[in-house]
Amino acid sequence: FLIITPTRIRTQVGSEEENTFVTKACSIYQTINEVLKAILEKNLLGLRRLELNSIYEISRLLTSTVELEKVMDLITNSLIIIYKAELVFVGLREGDKIRIAQAKGDYGHLLIGKEWHMVQPLMEKFFSKVEPSFLSIDELMTLPGFADLKVDSGNKIMFYPLWSSLGAVGLLGIVFSSESIDDNDTRNLQIYANFAAIALANAKLISRLEREAETDFLTGFFNKRALRNILVNELERTIRYGIPLAVIFLDIDNFKCYNDTFGHVSGDVVLQKTAEIIKNSIRTVDIAGRYGGEEFVIILPGTKEEGAVAVAERIQKSIEIYPFPHRKITASLGIALAKNDDSVDSLLERADQSLYQAKKQGKNCFCLDPS
Ligand code: GH3
Ligand code: MG
Ligand code: MG
Repeated sequence: FLIITPTRIRTQVGSEEENTFVTKACSIYQTINEVLKAILEKNLLGLRRLELNSIYEISRLLTSTVELEKVMDLITNSLIIIYKAELVFVGLREGDKIRIAQAKGDYGHLLIGKEWHMVQPLMEKFFSKVEPSFLSIDELMTLPGFADLKVDSGNKIMFYPLWSSLGAVGLLGIVFSSESIDDNDTRNLQIYANFAAIALANAKLISRLEREAETDFLTGFFNKRALRNILVNELERTIRYGIPLAVIFLDIDNFKCYNDTFGHVSGDVVLQKTAEIIKNSIRTVDIAGRYGGEEFVIILPGTKEEGAVAVAERIQKSIEIYPFPHRKITASLGIALAKNDDSVDSLLERADQSLYQAKKQGKNCFCLDPS
């Protein structure tokens, strides 16, 4: 085993990267550890039973894990450890494509992100049955991403379609050196692939539900819950590393009157257009969300007073000049800059107070929290 520990570089950016690295390393370590533990626990049972028991243990682990990344790590790592596979990859179904989401072993990193159309003849062949397909080197080379890889001509190449009750969830590809696998292994791997399919389907469903639970249906923006979670993390970065953070509260002016006059459907269009204007007025690192009815929150990491004021002014003017249906729309905005002793509530409260000031000053303007 090669254990890599990051050098401790005491710069702000370094510390952040270091944290990400350590988290990722811990997760990989845990995954490998779980696989090894499961194998070692059954090691006294003889070689053939070892393999079956390992598959059983790992399947059990797989179906009790709901994190998509972890499930894919388990699938790929365990096949490399138990079967000494040279290359293992997991393709996830995304609409009419299979996208390689995880790959381990020789050249694995070159495959990640590659996409294959479901209508491609080879894909149609894989998904026309439940059993694995065995591929020749020549067939493999026709798949995008493989053309440049040096796969040994003596290798065995197997593609398992991954089926769940909801249909095809993905594809498991395994490349073995020819002597490391026999018919019995192929059958056992089929059992394993079935568990892998269930685990992937569960993890995909959970991650979709999590995403939906954080998304506002009307605008596609983050909702209140997601915004608060994001703010917790951003505020921690501010307090720990001294990175500036600004928050803008935006509220559409006289929106009740607009709704009452032109109907809720027109009101919804205004909300969607406002979201679009906000999105087009901020950087990709900024985060915008719908906090409530006609209230939006914009989180600006690494932004000081001057930058936040510029963003607020840009959004306010863009809304004012946009040709909304029926009549002109304006919005009021409140800005607050994070302080070291802020909580999510106190920061939002100060932004809301500034918004209140902007409303008091006659609306269609912005105010900055003075403290
Ligand atoms: P002010 O200028 O002081 O902000 O007044 P306002 O009328 O905008 O504020 P008020 O809080 O009185 O009204 C907000 C309105 O927002 C009430 C409600 O009809 C509307 N609203 C909230 N959520 C939605 C939504 O999802 N769709 C639509 N169309 N309207 C919504
Ligand atoms: Mg309001
Ligand atoms: Mg309003």
